[in-house]
Amino acid sequence: MLGLMQDWPLTVDRILDHAASRHGGREIVSRSVEGPVVRTTYAELHARAKQVSHGLRELGIARGDRVATLAWNGGRHMEAWYGVMGIGAVCHTLNPRLHPDQLCWIIQNAGDRVILADIGFAPMLLAALASHPTPVERVILLSDEVHRPPEAGRRVLMYEDWIAGRPTSDAAGAPAWGRFGEETACGLCYTSGTTGDPKGVLYSHRSNFLHTLLVLQADVMGLSAADVILPIVPMFHANAWGVAFAAPAVGAKLVMPGQRLDGASVHELLETEGVTFSAAVPTVWQGLLQHLDATGEKLSTLRRVVIGGSACSEVLLRRFWEDYGVEVRHAWGMTETSPVGTMSTPGAETAALPFDQQLPWRVKQGRPPLGIELKLADEDGARLAEDGATAGRLMVRGPTVARGYFARDGEVLDAEGFFDTGDIATLDAHGVVQVTDRAKDVIKSGGEWISSIEIENIVTGHPAVAVAAVVGVAHPKWDERPLLLVQLKPGQVAEPVAMQDYLSGKIAKWWMPDDVVFLDEIPLGATGKVDKKGLRAKFAERYAAAELSQAG
Ligand code: ADP
Repeated sequence: MLGLMQDWPLTVDRILDHAASRHGGREIVSRSVEGPVVRTTYAELHARAKQVSHGLRELGIARGDRVATLAWNGGRHMEAWYGVMGIGAVCHTLNPRLHPDQLCWIIQNAGDRVILADIGFAPMLLAALASHPTPVERVILLSDEVHRPPEAGRRVLMYEDWIAGRPTSDAAGAPAWGRFGEETACGLCYTSGTTGDPKGVLYSHRSNFLHTLLVLQADVMGLSAADVILPIVPMFHANAWGVAFAAPAVGAKLVMPGQRLDGASVHELLETEGVTFSAAVPTVWQGLLQHLDATGEKLSTLRRVVIGGSACSEVLLRRFWEDYGVEVRHAWGMTETSPVGTMSTPGAETAALPFDQQLPWRVKQGRPPLGIELKLADEDGARLAEDGATAGRLMVRGPTVARGYFARDGEVLDAEGFFDTGDIATLDAHGVVQVTDRAKDVIKSGGEWISSIEIENIVTGHPAVAVAAVVGVAHPKWDERPLLLVQLKPGQVAEPVAMQDYLSGKIAKWWMPDDVVFLDEIPLGATGKVDKKGLRAKFAERYAAAELSQAG
């Protein structure tokens, strides 16, 4: 017997319809590429997204066609995003931090017909498209004729002029949104390829809609209409972790930071716009804290931040809370999980403890919300104990988890339908995850594993350290030994032995990095995470000449 409830497909156009009709006056504030701060509302965003849909239809874009964006977080990017998705085309968010060759490979793989790009990317994009074969028919630059860059030829359209005068509602003749099944493809996002070739994750309307409800749970992001949200994490990094849907879903004010993500620029927006909630990778927050240390400024409205993408150190959690009264929620996820998988929101027992005693719990990656199933498996796929101590491959299953990659054959699920995250973690009986490492980053020394994340976490607590990275380097006796790479805070000096002394007693002796190298800058990859692949390659020979008897 079927239930007698309405058929109301879970498509994301309904999210913006809802925002426009019930929170139409709520603001979207963008630091524009041209310079000034621009203010718009959900009602205006809806109307302009309709104009985008109309323009795309005129360019022959139909359901299932891929339309790319190459842009920082901003109001126009949101308009383009909903304008594409609303008509059943697929919004492919390109990552501008990638090398042009890789970008063109991705554009080719995705089959993008149109690209909407920030003007700042025009020189790079147009040069890349001119020298690589791609399916791109049109480039639309997200600005107006006044700002047309010299390299943009006649076939390049300027967004404002392209949408001007087009219908802003169905009544006036804009294409109706929705009217397709909820399983229809909606967004395409490539993993950054930190651990191999980029792979396209193809979200459906349903998966994005369900992910929105998932992140809105009080123990996940817990957003509300009263919030002012600054998504620092880019829209091209897994849908700004879902915030680009969740903010309009509740009618929260949105503050879009554009290109400038340094501590001073972020702080200015936090304060001038009264931001209450934000989300970003750890390196961004380190930049903000350094700015606050240098200036003595405060955080007067911020209440909660989500930190994820790579492990959040204890010092970040502690400083945000003790110095600024801001709650950090540590999140784990990946492009393939839409992306939120777990969140470190304490349950009743942990929440009742003093903050100091909560820390060891909060520094873990947290537990899965409703909609995410987890298990641990060994190399052969057999289930491992969920005892909080046994480490194994973290596997995930649910309606917001990928079951395959775009234009790529091959089974990615195990016999039980779980996706292998490529992360090594422990899992306890309450589902609390602690990630030890990426399988590719794990350091194997003398047949045992050393957790780079744990050592990094401790070293980051040293007052002189800005960023720390630990990589495994080939060693003649022990297979691999850890090498500690450190970027000091501006003006700080330290000796390698000071780092080892600081670690001494806090980790097992055989985990101690054999060597410490100070770098002016630890290189970051395209999603703002430490580029461990690059570091491993650079220091591959570091222990080649190590005495067989010395190590360990
Ligand atoms: P990529 O870095 O390949 O583009 P994602 O951005 O999707 O891919 O990153 C997903 C990976 O980032 C996870 O598999 C995990 O290794 C790492 N990660 C994400 N959040 C955390 C976290 N809180 N702690 C440790 N690692 C994390």
